[in-house]
Amino acid sequence: MAKSKPMSYPLMEKLVALSRRRGFLFQSSEIYGAINAVWDYGPLGVELKRNVKNIWWQDMISSRDNIVGMDTAILMHPETWVASGHVQNFHDPMVECRKCKRRYRQDHLPENTVRCPECGDELGEPKQFNLMFKTFLGSTQENAQEIYLRPETAQGIFVNFDNVISSTRLKLPFGIAQMGKSFRNEITTGNFIFRSREFEQMEMEFFIRPEENAHWLEYWAQERLNWFVSLGIRAEKLRLRPHGPDELAHYSTACYDVEYEFPFGFSELEGIADRGAYDLEQHQQHSRKKLQFVDQERGNEKLTPAVIESSAGVDRTVLVLMADAYWEDEANNRVVMRFSPKVAPYKVAVFPLFNKDGMPEMADAIYKKLKKTMPAFYDTAGSIGKRYRRQDEAGTPFCITVDHQSLEDQTVTLRDRDSLEQIRVSADSLIGLLLEKVMG
Ligand code: ATP
Repeated sequence: MAKSKPMSYPLMEKLVALSRRRGFLFQSSEIYGAINAVWDYGPLGVELKRNVKNIWWQDMISSRDNIVGMDTAILMHPETWVASGHVQNFHDPMVECRKCKRRYRQDHLPENTVRCPECGDELGEPKQFNLMFKTFLGSTQENAQEIYLRPETAQGIFVNFDNVISSTRLKLPFGIAQMGKSFRNEITTGNFIFRSREFEQMEMEFFIRPEENAHWLEYWAQERLNWFVSLGIRAEKLRLRPHGPDELAHYSTACYDVEYEFPFGFSELEGIADRGAYDLEQHQQHSRKKLQFVDQERGNEKLTPAVIESSAGVDRTVLVLMADAYWEDEANNRVVMRFSPKVAPYKVAVFPLFNKDGMPEMADAIYKKLKKTMPAFYDTAGSIGKRYRRQDEAGTPFCITVDHQSLEDQTVTLRDRDSLEQIRVSADSLIGLLLEKVMG
């Protein structure tokens, strides 16, 4: 089923290979030949991804007093997608090569391309291709209703606008945020998890007075750019790109993309858009329900708020973290994932130098104690050098080794992943020391 086209970017190929080898990501249903552009997160990948989501939730919701969270369903009333414009507009014009049948998004090809970039044969006429997956709701075929898997999480927030404001005491400006799976039957896939058919989004709709749109757009664009820097991603590889007038949706006055310089060029990681009152107005019209805010601070003025949207991809963030962290340390003949301790799947690994003389017992006790406070890993297999290399590829920032001296004076060695510096510290002080290093 998977039509695997060789990836032409060495770094991406290395990331795919490392992901499989170390258990970050696997192709979905691999034993059956895999399914194209769908990926499964393995034991290390899921930790990395959860860290991204937890940090986003903490920074966007828990630490702010004017943003609340939600978790809305993937399946929604089909009218939602008529109101949002997805049924009419969520198309990508696509061209197919007449000979090799490869498909391309027309907007991804240089203008006036008439020949297939791969085999050189003629490209067919552009066709519209709806990106939404359909499925059926109902137990029997006769009464089954055709519905869609959501292509974005944002609409779950808009349709619940009234539910949220009437069950909370939010005042303008305020945000409603959620994260979750979205599905798009993408035409052009590839580049690992950059564009997949099932992916996760982290979205926040910030409701404001319409005249404050320019201020809040700038505010959120900057906040979101800074957020990616706070994950340890190199600032010089990130940029904010304002959309040109030809890229804007008809209801949008301005939009920024946070972009990262991938091996295949600067590409979108998150969109921050001024959506005006378009979504709430569309849902009011289609549902005939009022979706308005009563501003008690302004003499009970009724208004349909405008919206600044922040829409990021979880998987694209994971890809950026991996691409940015990958380092071939030739001097020491090793591959290192230089994750910031904040996002690293495991914060620390514990090894006994030898599997004898009481070292495993002491190492295991240290590991069990640490594991209560932070994700930790215990490894006894292979030479100490091999164990260090495995943790370098996993991106574990610190390794602790219990040796002969440990048994005598209760000290251990603490190795720093990046500098390779090893210091001796007392086993008792480990938790405090590591917490300080991990939390920065
Ligand atoms: P693109 O132009 O790359 O298809 P988009 O402009 O359609 O992206 P949005 O609809 O703005 O993307 O979605 C917001 C975010 O969701 C994107 O910035 C990206 O991080 C993520 N995203 C969108 N589509 C996919 C996908 N197919 N696979 C992985 N992540 C995606």
